[in-house]
Amino acid sequence: MLDVQNLTTYYTTMRGPVRAVEDVNFQLKKGEAMGLAGESGCGKTTIALSLLRILPFNGKIIRGKILLKKKDIVQLSDKRLREDVRWKSISLIFQGAMNALNPVYNIENQIVEAIRIHEPEVSKKEARERVGKLFEMVGIEAARAKNYPHEFSGGMRQRAMIAMALASNPDMLIADEPGTALDVIVQAQVLKLLNELKESLNLSIIMITHDLSLITETCEKLVIMYAGNVAESGDIVAMHKKPLHPYTQDLISAFPNIHAKKRRMTSIPGSPPDLLQPPPGCRFHPRCKYAKDICRKETPKLKEAGKNHYVACHLVG
Ligand code: SF4
Repeated sequence: MLDVQNLTTYYTTMRGPVRAVEDVNFQLKKGEAMGLAGESGCGKTTIALSLLRILPFNGKIIRGKILLKKKDIVQLSDKRLREDVRWKSISLIFQGAMNALNPVYNIENQIVEAIRIHEPEVSKKEARERVGKLFEMVGIEAARAKNYPHEFSGGMRQRAMIAMALASNPDMLIADEPGTALDVIVQAQVLKLLNELKESLNLSIIMITHDLSLITETCEKLVIMYAGNVAESGDIVAMHKKPLHPYTQDLISAFPNIHAKKRRMTSIPGSPPDLLQPPPGCRFHPRCKYAKDICRKETPKLKEAGKNHYVACHLVG
Protein backbone atom coordinates (compact mmCIF):
# COMPACT_ATOMS: atom_id res chain seq x y z
CA MET A 1 0.00 0.00 0.00
CA LEU A 2 2.85 2.39 0.79
CA ASP A 3 6.14 2.36 -1.07
CA VAL A 4 8.69 4.98 0.02
CA GLN A 5 11.59 5.26 -2.42
CA ASN A 6 14.76 7.29 -1.77
CA LEU A 7 12.90 9.82 0.36
CA THR A 8 15.21 12.75 1.10
CA THR A 9 14.04 15.72 3.22
CA TYR A 10 16.15 18.70 4.27
CA TYR A 11 15.51 21.70 6.52
CA THR A 12 16.95 25.04 5.42
CA THR A 13 18.68 26.93 8.24
CA MET A 14 20.94 30.00 8.46
CA ARG A 15 23.88 27.62 8.90
CA GLY A 16 23.01 25.50 5.85
CA PRO A 17 20.75 22.54 5.06
CA VAL A 18 20.03 20.02 7.81
CA ARG A 19 20.06 16.62 6.08
CA ALA A 20 17.31 15.18 8.28
CA VAL A 21 16.27 12.24 6.08
CA GLU A 22 18.35 10.86 3.21
CA ASP A 23 17.55 8.07 0.74
CA VAL A 24 15.05 6.31 2.97
CA ASN A 25 13.28 3.24 1.53
CA PHE A 26 10.56 1.07 3.03
CA GLN A 27 7.26 -0.57 2.10
CA LEU A 28 4.11 -1.25 4.08
CA LYS A 29 1.26 -3.59 3.18
CA LYS A 30 -2.44 -3.17 4.00
CA GLY A 31 -3.13 -4.31 7.56
CA GLU A 32 0.57 -4.39 8.46
CA ALA A 33 2.17 -2.54 11.39
CA MET A 34 5.67 -1.16 11.20
CA GLY A 35 7.82 0.34 13.93
CA LEU A 36 10.06 3.26 13.02
CA ALA A 37 12.69 3.46 15.73
CA GLY A 38 15.91 5.24 16.59
CA GLU A 39 17.32 7.90 18.89
CA SER A 40 15.81 11.40 19.03
CA GLY A 41 16.70 13.44 15.95
CA CYS A 42 17.22 10.43 13.66
CA GLY A 43 14.50 11.56 11.24
CA LYS A 44 11.49 9.50 12.38
CA THR A 45 9.10 12.42 12.78
CA THR A 46 10.43 14.09 9.61
CA ILE A 47 9.43 10.94 7.70
CA ALA A 48 5.90 11.14 9.19
CA LEU A 49 5.58 14.84 8.30
CA SER A 50 6.91 14.11 4.79
CA LEU A 51 4.34 11.34 4.27
CA LEU A 52 1.56 13.86 4.89
CA ARG A 53 3.47 16.80 3.36
CA ILE A 54 2.99 18.87 6.52
CA LEU A 55 6.64 19.83 7.00
CA PRO A 56 7.41 23.17 8.68
CA PHE A 57 8.09 26.13 6.35
CA ASN A 58 11.83 25.40 6.13
CA GLY A 59 11.41 21.68 5.41
CA LYS A 60 11.43 20.35 1.85
CA ILE A 61 11.31 16.98 0.15
CA ILE A 62 14.41 17.18 -2.04
CA ARG A 63 13.94 13.93 -3.93
CA GLY A 64 12.28 10.54 -3.79
CA LYS A 65 8.79 9.11 -4.14
CA ILE A 66 6.04 8.33 -1.63
CA LEU A 67 3.72 5.96 -3.48
CA LEU A 68 0.41 5.51 -1.70
CA LYS A 69 -1.69 2.97 -3.60
CA LYS A 70 0.63 3.75 -6.56
CA LYS A 71 -0.05 7.55 -6.45
CA ASP A 72 3.00 9.70 -5.69
CA ILE A 73 2.16 11.97 -2.74
CA VAL A 74 5.21 14.14 -3.51
CA GLN A 75 3.65 15.21 -6.82
CA LEU A 76 0.07 15.83 -5.60
CA SER A 77 -1.38 19.35 -5.44
CA ASP A 78 -2.32 20.80 -2.03
CA LYS A 79 -6.00 20.45 -2.95
CA ARG A 80 -5.67 16.72 -3.79
CA LEU A 81 -3.65 16.18 -0.60
CA ARG A 82 -6.34 17.84 1.50
CA GLU A 83 -9.21 16.06 -0.23
CA ASP A 84 -7.77 12.57 -0.77
CA VAL A 85 -4.81 11.94 1.49
CA ARG A 86 -4.75 13.77 4.84
CA TRP A 87 -7.12 12.19 7.35
CA LYS A 88 -8.91 10.15 4.63
CA SER A 89 -6.00 7.90 3.62
CA ILE A 90 -3.33 8.67 6.23
CA SER A 91 -4.01 9.99 9.70
CA LEU A 92 -1.48 11.14 12.27
CA ILE A 93 -1.70 10.85 16.04
CA PHE A 94 0.57 13.63 17.26
CA GLN A 95 3.03 13.29 20.11
CA GLY A 96 1.61 14.46 23.46
CA ALA A 97 -2.20 14.17 23.46
CA MET A 98 -2.68 17.12 25.82
CA ASN A 99 -0.90 19.52 23.48
CA ALA A 100 -2.64 18.20 20.38
CA LEU A 101 -6.16 18.85 21.74
CA ASN A 102 -7.52 22.38 21.97
CA PRO A 103 -8.21 23.05 25.70
CA VAL A 104 -11.04 25.55 25.07
CA TYR A 105 -13.33 23.32 22.96
CA ASN A 106 -15.01 20.15 24.09
CA ILE A 107 -13.68 17.03 22.39
CA GLU A 108 -16.85 16.33 20.41
CA ASN A 109 -16.69 19.77 18.77
CA GLN A 110 -13.05 19.24 17.84
CA ILE A 111 -13.74 15.91 16.15
CA VAL A 112 -16.93 17.18 14.47
CA GLU A 113 -14.96 20.11 13.06
CA ALA A 114 -12.24 17.77 11.75
CA ILE A 115 -14.83 15.52 10.10
CA ARG A 116 -16.65 18.44 8.45
CA ILE A 117 -13.44 20.03 7.14
CA HIS A 118 -12.51 16.82 5.35
CA GLU A 119 -16.06 15.70 4.49
CA PRO A 120 -18.17 18.86 4.08
CA GLU A 121 -21.15 16.80 2.90
CA VAL A 122 -21.53 15.25 6.40
CA SER A 123 -24.11 17.10 8.56
CA LYS A 124 -23.34 18.17 12.16
CA LYS A 125 -25.83 15.61 13.48
CA GLU A 126 -24.24 12.76 11.48
CA ALA A 127 -20.77 13.86 12.58
CA ARG A 128 -21.86 13.87 16.26
CA GLU A 129 -23.27 10.37 15.89
CA ARG A 130 -20.00 9.28 14.32
CA VAL A 131 -18.05 10.74 17.27
CA GLY A 132 -20.20 8.69 19.69
CA LYS A 133 -19.45 5.48 17.74
CA LEU A 134 -15.74 6.32 17.55
CA PHE A 135 -15.63 6.89 21.31
CA GLU A 136 -17.22 3.50 21.91
CA MET A 137 -14.75 1.93 19.50
CA VAL A 138 -11.81 3.25 21.55
CA GLY A 139 -13.39 2.22 24.85
CA ILE A 140 -14.83 5.52 26.15
CA GLU A 141 -18.52 6.12 26.91
CA ALA A 142 -20.08 8.13 24.06
CA ALA A 143 -21.46 10.74 26.50
CA ARG A 144 -17.91 11.67 27.58
CA ALA A 145 -17.32 13.26 24.15
CA LYS A 146 -18.95 16.42 25.58
CA ASN A 147 -16.08 16.77 28.07
CA TYR A 148 -13.11 19.11 27.74
CA PRO A 149 -9.56 17.71 27.43
CA HIS A 150 -8.66 18.67 31.02
CA GLU A 151 -11.50 16.43 32.27
CA PHE A 152 -9.78 13.37 30.79
CA SER A 153 -6.87 11.32 32.16
CA GLY A 154 -3.73 10.97 30.00
CA GLY A 155 -4.84 7.57 28.70
CA MET A 156 -8.34 8.83 27.82
CA ARG A 157 -6.87 11.81 25.96
CA GLN A 158 -4.70 9.43 23.95
CA ARG A 159 -7.79 7.31 23.18
CA ALA A 160 -9.67 10.47 22.13
CA MET A 161 -6.77 11.34 19.80
CA ILE A 162 -6.99 7.87 18.28
CA ALA A 163 -10.78 8.33 17.83
CA MET A 164 -10.12 11.66 16.11
CA ALA A 165 -7.50 10.08 13.83
CA LEU A 166 -10.00 7.38 12.80
CA ALA A 167 -12.82 9.87 12.13
CA SER A 168 -12.58 9.66 8.34
CA ASN A 169 -11.91 5.94 8.16
CA PRO A 170 -8.26 6.12 6.98
CA ASP A 171 -6.25 3.21 5.54
CA MET A 172 -3.19 4.11 7.56
CA LEU A 173 -2.46 5.50 11.00
CA ILE A 174 0.84 7.07 12.01
CA ALA A 175 1.28 7.12 15.78
CA ASP A 176 4.12 9.43 16.83
CA GLU A 177 5.46 8.26 20.22
CA PRO A 178 2.05 6.96 21.37
CA GLY A 179 3.40 6.08 24.82
CA THR A 180 4.87 9.50 25.66
CA ALA A 181 3.91 10.81 29.11
CA LEU A 182 1.81 7.71 29.90
CA ASP A 183 2.59 5.29 32.70
CA VAL A 184 3.44 1.71 31.68
CA ILE A 185 -0.03 0.31 32.41
CA VAL A 186 -1.80 2.97 30.34
CA GLN A 187 0.85 2.57 27.63
CA ALA A 188 0.05 -1.15 27.46
CA GLN A 189 -3.69 -0.39 27.21
CA VAL A 190 -3.15 2.09 24.36
CA LEU A 191 -0.96 -0.40 22.47
CA LYS A 192 -3.56 -3.14 23.00
CA LEU A 193 -6.21 -0.80 21.60
CA LEU A 194 -4.08 -0.01 18.53
CA ASN A 195 -3.56 -3.74 18.02
CA GLU A 196 -7.31 -4.44 18.22
CA LEU A 197 -8.10 -1.61 15.80
CA LYS A 198 -5.46 -2.88 13.38
CA GLU A 199 -7.14 -6.29 13.36
CA SER A 200 -10.76 -5.13 13.26
CA LEU A 201 -10.31 -2.33 10.70
CA ASN A 202 -7.44 -3.92 8.71
CA LEU A 203 -5.47 -0.75 9.39
CA SER A 204 -1.87 -0.21 8.41
CA ILE A 205 0.08 1.40 11.24
CA ILE A 206 3.43 3.17 11.44
CA MET A 207 4.48 3.46 15.05
CA ILE A 208 7.23 5.96 15.73
CA THR A 209 9.20 5.47 18.91
CA HIS A 210 12.61 5.61 20.51
CA ASP A 211 11.53 2.75 22.80
CA LEU A 212 11.94 -0.62 21.07
CA SER A 213 10.10 -2.48 23.82
CA LEU A 214 6.89 -0.60 22.92
CA ILE A 215 6.64 -1.90 19.37
CA THR A 216 7.73 -5.48 19.67
CA GLU A 217 4.26 -6.72 20.59
CA THR A 218 2.38 -4.62 18.05
CA CYS A 219 4.44 -4.51 14.85
CA GLU A 220 5.42 -7.12 12.29
CA LYS A 221 8.09 -4.97 10.71
CA LEU A 222 10.83 -2.74 12.06
CA VAL A 223 12.84 0.04 10.46
CA ILE A 224 15.83 1.28 12.47
CA MET A 225 16.90 4.81 11.61
CA TYR A 226 20.26 6.35 12.40
CA ALA A 227 21.09 10.01 11.65
CA GLY A 228 18.59 10.28 8.78
CA ASN A 229 19.41 6.93 7.14
CA VAL A 230 17.87 3.47 7.41
CA ALA A 231 20.39 1.29 9.23
CA GLU A 232 18.39 -1.95 9.14
CA SER A 233 14.86 -3.04 8.28
CA GLY A 234 12.87 -6.25 8.17
CA ASP A 235 10.83 -8.74 10.13
CA ILE A 236 10.73 -7.60 13.77
CA VAL A 237 11.17 -11.08 15.29
CA ALA A 238 14.15 -11.92 13.06
CA MET A 239 15.74 -8.55 13.82
CA HIS A 240 15.33 -9.04 17.56
CA LYS A 241 16.73 -12.56 17.43
CA LYS A 242 19.65 -11.69 15.18
CA PRO A 243 20.24 -7.97 14.71
CA LEU A 244 22.92 -7.51 12.05
CA HIS A 245 23.70 -3.78 12.11
CA PRO A 246 26.01 -2.75 14.99
CA TYR A 247 23.66 0.14 15.83
CA THR A 248 20.63 -2.19 16.07
CA GLN A 249 22.68 -4.53 18.26
CA ASP A 250 23.61 -1.63 20.55
CA LEU A 251 20.05 -0.31 20.63
CA ILE A 252 18.63 -3.72 21.61
CA SER A 253 21.32 -4.11 24.30
CA ALA A 254 20.27 -0.77 25.77
CA PHE A 255 16.79 -2.13 26.67
CA PRO A 256 15.96 -4.66 29.39
CA ASN A 257 14.35 -7.93 28.28
CA ILE A 258 12.25 -9.61 30.95
CA HIS A 259 12.17 -12.87 28.94
CA ALA A 260 15.93 -13.18 28.41
CA LYS A 261 18.76 -14.06 30.81
CA LYS A 262 19.71 -11.36 33.30
CA ARG A 263 22.42 -9.15 31.80
CA ARG A 264 24.02 -5.78 32.30
CA MET A 265 22.44 -3.14 30.07
CA THR A 266 24.83 -1.10 27.98
CA SER A 267 24.57 2.42 26.61
CA ILE A 268 25.78 3.52 23.18
CA PRO A 269 28.91 5.67 23.56
CA GLY A 270 28.95 9.15 22.03
CA SER A 271 25.97 11.01 20.59
CA PRO A 272 24.24 11.25 17.21
CA PRO A 273 26.00 13.51 14.68
CA ASP A 274 25.11 17.07 13.72
CA LEU A 275 23.08 16.65 10.54
CA LEU A 276 24.33 20.00 9.21
CA GLN A 277 27.62 18.21 8.64
CA PRO A 278 27.10 14.48 9.04
CA PRO A 279 30.27 12.35 9.10
CA PRO A 280 31.42 11.04 5.70
CA GLY A 281 30.89 7.37 4.85
CA CYS A 282 28.78 5.48 7.38
CA ARG A 283 27.21 8.07 9.70
CA PHE A 284 27.52 5.64 12.61
CA HIS A 285 31.31 5.19 12.22
CA PRO A 286 32.41 7.60 15.04
CA ARG A 287 30.42 5.43 17.52
CA CYS A 288 30.91 2.00 15.97
CA LYS A 289 33.30 -0.44 17.61
CA TYR A 290 33.75 -2.31 14.30
CA ALA A 291 34.52 0.74 12.10
CA LYS A 292 37.16 0.19 9.42
CA ASP A 293 38.78 2.53 6.88
CA ILE A 294 36.09 1.90 4.28
CA CYS A 295 33.40 2.96 6.81
CA ARG A 296 34.94 6.45 7.00
CA LYS A 297 34.93 6.87 3.20
CA GLU A 298 32.00 5.02 1.64
CA THR A 299 28.33 5.24 2.57
CA PRO A 300 27.04 1.66 2.95
CA LYS A 301 24.01 0.86 0.77
CA LEU A 302 20.95 -0.94 2.13
CA LYS A 303 21.46 -4.54 0.95
CA GLU A 304 19.37 -7.69 1.28
CA ALA A 305 20.80 -9.80 4.09
CA GLY A 306 18.06 -12.45 4.23
CA LYS A 307 14.37 -12.89 3.46
CA ASN A 308 12.72 -9.47 4.06
CA HIS A 309 15.82 -8.29 5.89
CA TYR A 310 17.93 -5.32 4.73
CA VAL A 311 21.08 -3.90 6.32
CA ALA A 312 23.31 -0.92 5.52
CA CYS A 313 26.72 -1.97 6.84
CA HIS A 314 30.01 -2.74 5.11
CA LEU A 315 30.49 -5.76 7.38
CA VAL A 316 27.26 -7.44 6.27
CA GLY A 317 26.70 -9.13 2.89
FE1 SF4 B 1 30.08 0.12 11.78
FE2 SF4 B 1 31.24 0.28 9.40
FE3 SF4 B 1 29.00 -1.08 9.66
FE4 SF4 B 1 28.99 1.56 9.83
S1 SF4 B 1 29.49 0.35 8.04
S2 SF4 B 1 27.94 0.17 11.17
S3 SF4 B 1 30.91 1.95 10.86
S4 SF4 B 1 30.97 -1.55 10.60
